[in-house]
Amino acid sequence: MGIESENIPLPFRQGQGEGTIREDFPILGKNIYKKYPLVYLDNAATTQKPRCVVDAMTDEYYNENANVHRGVHFLSQQATDLYEASREKVREFLNARSTREIVFTRGTTESINLVASCYGEAFMHEGDEVIVSEMEHHSNIVSWQLLQARKGIRLRVIPITDEGELRLDVYEKLFSEKTRIVSITHVSNVLGTVNPMKEIVRIAHEHNVPVLVDGAQSAPHFAVDVQDLDCDFFAFSGHKIYGPTGIGVLYGKEAWLDRIPPYMGGGEMIQNVSFEKTTFNELPYKFEAGTPDYVAATGLTKALDYVLSIGMDTIEAYEQDLTQYAIRRLSEIEGMHIFGPRETHDAVVSFLVHQPGIPEKDTAFKHYIHHLDMGTLLDRLGIAVRTGHHCAEPLMHRLGIEGTVRVSFALYNTREEVDTLVAAIDRVRKMF
Ligand code: PMP
Repeated sequence: MGIESENIPLPFRQGQGEGTIREDFPILGKNIYKKYPLVYLDNAATTQKPRCVVDAMTDEYYNENANVHRGVHFLSQQATDLYEASREKVREFLNARSTREIVFTRGTTESINLVASCYGEAFMHEGDEVIVSEMEHHSNIVSWQLLQARKGIRLRVIPITDEGELRLDVYEKLFSEKTRIVSITHVSNVLGTVNPMKEIVRIAHEHNVPVLVDGAQSAPHFAVDVQDLDCDFFAFSGHKIYGPTGIGVLYGKEAWLDRIPPYMGGGEMIQNVSFEKTTFNELPYKFEAGTPDYVAATGLTKALDYVLSIGMDTIEAYEQDLTQYAIRRLSEIEGMHIFGPRETHDAVVSFLVHQPGIPEKDTAFKHYIHHLDMGTLLDRLGIAVRTGHHCAEPLMHRLGIEGTVRVSFALYNTREEVDTLVAAIDRVRKMF
């Protein structure tokens, strides 16, 4: 983290033949309102897809389609091989020990729900506690609240500092004999804060408590090594890392996955079924009931091949540089307030801009340009940003605001796009 470098020219491919990385993403050539070239800065919501991902999926539907794990026929075996190759690619990407630890889901949300539901079923009882934080996405709050309603568990919440970092001193004090699991985001989708996950895991393990890492906003931006983190579960979404929608991953240590019950019942997750007794399939199939989105898995393989061929460290260095550049340039705008820490900051920047003409800069954010107005006007200038609470309402309450404007970067964004954004914000500001 915190790598500063001189505008590493990542979108301009080095030593990989003709063209630029931007040309791999057809949508980036689009004109918005037939006027402005698209500046896409909503990558934390979803990334655009490179040609290789879409082509591989189209090819599979046209030439290789068959259901997996079912048929003895050629196409089905080929589809199964492709699906299992995808699992091996994810294992390599996360540096998991075994493919038995890689479960395909529909995304981060489903992965977290799976853990809350199945781990909760096996190991949590009335009065037991899960530790989450004030900066969680709703998916890592509501999943536990569903368990709360079902089993009477309690949520304990790590507060954040005014700079947007976790209060680790408080975290340590939240553990009790009732603590059963810690479930924390690796990177905040609002503040860009990169949480010290190894430290968080170390502390939890000292109390013999497992940790689920919400990796939705980390996996796309820097190398994740689940063995090095030593986390017990790790969740991420394919669509946020240049892959298709409808596929995500739950990594789980084999020892845990073995001990928790299945999530859904159906085909593929069983060994034998009778009306008297059903036995479940081995890992990871125990957690994959029904026909999986095997074509999306192929898309995910291609997306991971794509980022791995560039190198996660190169992507991290490039995006860190771009984020720091964006923070510097945005800070030059009069009345700009940027949320989140300056240093341990990933590819997400949330901000609000004070209304010109109102002399006092208020701390309650009363006289700031409404995030929705800013987002709508930026859109008219061809810039796609996110506005609102970003599925993190408790964090908004903590910050005393209703929402922010959020820009989030991917490997194809450039300093020129940041300059365009800064000029556009200045233009919007002057309209008020
Ligand atoms: N956690 C975080 C931190 C996120 O940013 C998101 C997506 N905004 C999610 C979870 C949920 O991801 P998905 O919608 O792909 O399941």
